[in-house]
Amino acid sequence: MKIILLGTGDAIGTPRIGCSCPQCSRAQKTGEERLRTSLMVTKAGHTVLVDTGPDLRRQLLSHGSPHVDAVLWTHGHYDHFMGFGEFYRVQKMPRVYAPRPVMDYCGGIFGFLPFERHVLGEYDPFSLFGIEFSFLPVNHPPAYTCGLLITDGNVRVGYTSDTNRTIPARTREALTGVDLLLVDALLPAGLHVPKHMNYKEACELARELHAGDFRCVHISHLVPWDLPHLGKDGETFCFSSP
Ligand SMILES: [Zn+2]
Ligand SMILES: [Zn+2]
Ligand SMILES: [Zn+2]
Repeated sequence: MKIILLGTGDAIGTPRIGCSCPQCSRAQKTGEERLRTSLMVTKAGHTVLVDTGPDLRRQLLSHGSPHVDAVLWTHGHYDHFMGFGEFYRVQKMPRVYAPRPVMDYCGGIFGFLPFERHVLGEYDPFSLFGIEFSFLPVNHPPAYTCGLLITDGNVRVGYTSDTNRTIPARTREALTGVDLLLVDALLPAGLHVPKHMNYKEACELARELHAGDFRCVHISHLVPWDLPHLGKDGETFCFSSP
């Protein structure tokens, strides 16, 4: 199994339009960016996307234009699903897997497109191309939101791109001891919003969950470029198949 960080940015992306903060100025100069957060998961020639943000077209073009077999949606925020329309007239619409509230909302907005819908329960594992996924509820008020546990043989990867620090006990349990945790770090340490974590909280959570390794994702332009454990757009993790 291979996991590629297609983007590591927040809803706005870095550089932020019209911003001249140090991070955005550097991005403008070097071309380094944080596109909206999503993942590409591949195994044996199959491709699954976790979230389909507004940068999807560019993300697929810069990663070899793969045929996408399936899409998973974590929640109904603009930056996580609005790129889904980019598949129109490019390939057969991929089938979509999501929890009921997410499918109802996002599926309603894309009601004009024909695609296969699969509604999954919380903590209910399902298998795609030999990889097991489960939606894990997190805490990202007011939107109903799930993270994911991705399991390939004895490799376990956790994804919680949008959540605050107070996640349900059963979700914490499911994420304990993952080999890799991809975790929300919207803001630098010291800044807080009710629905996301900051860098310090993300690092603390990764430690508490005994994650083998972790990368921060969903990073805003306010976070400096050179902190340890920040995910980078295009960063790829290869796990040997069982
Ligand atoms: Zn988001
Ligand atoms: Zn900025
Ligand atoms: Zn969100």
